[in-house]
Amino acid sequence: MTYIGRFAPSPSGPLHLGSLIAAVASYLDAKANKGRWLVRMENLDPPREMPGADQLILEQLQAFDLVWDGDVLFQSERISDYQNQLDMWLKEKKAYACRCPRKQIRAAGGVYNGHCRYLNLPAEDSAVRFLNSSPLTQFEDLIHNTVINTSARTSEDFIIRRRDGLFAYQLAVVLDDIYQNITHIVRGQDLIDTTVWQNSLYAALNVKPPQYAHIPLILGNDGRKLSKQTGAPALDTKKSSQLLVEVIARLGQQPPKELLLESNTRILNWAIDNWQLSQVPKN
Ligand code: GLU
Ligand code: ZN
Repeated sequence: MTYIGRFAPSPSGPLHLGSLIAAVASYLDAKANKGRWLVRMENLDPPREMPGADQLILEQLQAFDLVWDGDVLFQSERISDYQNQLDMWLKEKKAYACRCPRKQIRAAGGVYNGHCRYLNLPAEDSAVRFLNSSPLTQFEDLIHNTVINTSARTSEDFIIRRRDGLFAYQLAVVLDDIYQNITHIVRGQDLIDTTVWQNSLYAALNVKPPQYAHIPLILGNDGRKLSKQTGAPALDTKKSSQLLVEVIARLGQQPPKELLLESNTRILNWAIDNWQLSQVPKN
């Protein structure tokens, strides 16, 4: 089996340290396994996007000499595929329309109770939920081994198309990873809780899920996840080699100090040759 990995940024802003680490980890794991490394732009939520961030991200990757294989796939090109799958599941009653106001769900403890499951509401002007009839509560992770998720949300009928008509990440990510024949997903731990939902979609599609590896998040000084929303500082690509060495060290690898004087390509090659996924910290 050939390894196909990917980095799938959302263009809500330029890369920050927290997204760079996901880019580097997915790149190194792919290249250490003689695999391909794809980049997919997850631009399916225009209201949350920053105009031009997609190009900025690609330029940043280039500045770090993170060279992707093949063409960049934009999720905006994939809408008809998402729509076809949604229509099929609606027809098969594996998905259904829901008009419960978010406020009501929040008031009921934040977990959707399946209220609209059998109401046969029209899909127009409604959210569409996946009928999660056999919820999964665990999956295998290359870093965390068996991940057990006991939260009530695992059995929720989660949203696959929002009421505003935009497709949900859960649906798009699965259809795209299948479309691109992705075998390994290396990404941030913030996505570990909903992986079981994604695996339910794989099961419904009769496709074997990829291998997962969830890498630790980089937290800001306030202990919150670094993100555009929490004001993560922009990456200084003039210091790209320093940042690369820092990120490689945060991934539990032990880059020698001398690497700081080397080019990005040499740093990355050292990291590919010495990559040990087992050394990546769990937290
Ligand atoms: N687009 C998602 C993000 O930026 C990542 C999706 C994934 O790696 O599965 O957080
Ligand atoms: Zn509902």
